[in-house]
Amino acid sequence: MIPKQIEAYVIDDASKQTFRKSQIDVPQLQPLDVLMNIECCSVCHTDFYCPAGKAPGHEFIGKIVAIGSSVEKLKVGQRVGGGWQLGSCQNCDVCNDGKQNICLKKTNFINAPTGGFADYVVWDSRFLYDIPETMSSADAAPLLCAGITVYAPLANHNVQPGSRVGILGVGGLGHLGIKFAKAWGCRVVALSTSSNKEKEARAFGADEFVVTKDADQLKSLKPLDMIINTVSANLDYESYINLLSRSIVGSLVGSPIMMQKMLNFAGMHNISPQLEIYPMDVDHCHTAFERIDQNLARYRIVLTNSNFKSD
Ligand SMILES: [Zn+2]
Ligand SMILES: [Zn+2]
Repeated sequence: MIPKQIEAYVIDDASKQTFRKSQIDVPQLQPLDVLMNIECCSVCHTDFYCPAGKAPGHEFIGKIVAIGSSVEKLKVGQRVGGGWQLGSCQNCDVCNDGKQNICLKKTNFINAPTGGFADYVVWDSRFLYDIPETMSSADAAPLLCAGITVYAPLANHNVQPGSRVGILGVGGLGHLGIKFAKAWGCRVVALSTSSNKEKEARAFGADEFVVTKDADQLKSLKPLDMIINTVSANLDYESYINLLSRSIVGSLVGSPIMMQKMLNFAGMHNISPQLEIYPMDVDHCHTAFERIDQNLARYRIVLTNSNFKSD
């Protein structure tokens, strides 16, 4: 059944990061849009930048309930996932080159009627991805932003099996970075400010663990071929750059093709995040933001929609 309204959890006060429930009319689908019933949506630190009146959420999984007149690659009933990117111009050099994620006219979840903190979303079908059958929806959700962000540098920068890869920060992104780098065949070095995540980092696949506040440990570390920095705070970059011999590059999610490759790779290697799962409601939106803000989430939080109809 096609709903007339979407029930969304929108930011009420952006400075206090509070939420309220809101009803939004389902917009007319554009030819390449789909309407999805959300099953679950995980929470990313980028959601904190969502303005008041908008629903955050850009790691969502759900089932397609309606498609626009020109949608060919997806069908009603299919399980798909969406991430940070909503659209691109599809007509510039980088778009034509399959790198829509760096298009100057790209749009993201804030430009959508709602993000994934809602029971339905309307999304451009060209930025939705098939989910491997073996993967649960909750496990798949965090891959759509956190997963692609740590996978893309491995795929883009010629990281070889046996390369020594440092993962800076063991959090939502970092714990997935360890798992992806391990599955990629790398020697994985977890770099964390404190020793209390060592046991878990090693369980995720880290071969070495370095406490970054310990200058001696950092100095005696053998050189690394790459460091994937997953820390959003300001850093003493010099001490890390000294561990490397080359270039600094940024990474902004990944192209649609790379998204699908990442999901398939994760499915093949059984890469799944460590999750805290809560129902999607106002209270738990608050809980999720508080736990992420206080660095308590272990390691990704998923909100599940009680209005999801599995058949
Ligand atoms: Zn994100
Ligand atoms: Zn473009």
